[in-house]
This record gives sequence, structure tokens and C-alpha cells, in this order.
Amino acid sequence: MDAGTDKVFYCPHCHRPLYDHDALRCLYCGERLDIKAGALSLLKWRKIRVFIVILVLFVVLAFVLLMVF
Ligand SMILES: [Zn+2]
Repeated sequence: MDAGTDKVFYCPHCHRPLYDHDALRCLYCGERLDIKAGALSLLKWRKIRVFIVILVLFVVLAFVLLMVF
């Protein structure tokens, strides 16, 4: 199945079209292609971190309320 052939991925370094989405390095300039994946994981990590912060704040707030009453 060639579902990915219509999607052209451009190298962030030399901006040449790449058709292999699983390639770790650019065919033309040899630079690593993990920038897109890194940004995606960073965004995901930020969302998780925000969620953890809210959760911790909620737990602390609940604990303080428990101590007060
Ligand atoms: Zn390149």
C-alpha cells in the first residue's frame, strides 16, 4: 500500500523533498530528521506537565482544606 507517497516531507535543513518518512537522516544533506518528532513530543510533554501541575495543585488544595477543617 502506498498511502504515504502523496505526502512529501521536506528536509528542515536543505528543504529538499523526501518521500521516505521513516528515514532518520536526509538523503541529500545527511542531517538528522528528528526535529519534527522532537517538537511533537515536546508539545505532548508540555500538555502532560500542565496536567500534572493542575493535579498537584488540586491535591495540595484538598490537603490544605482537609487540614483547616
Ligand atoms: Zn537535507
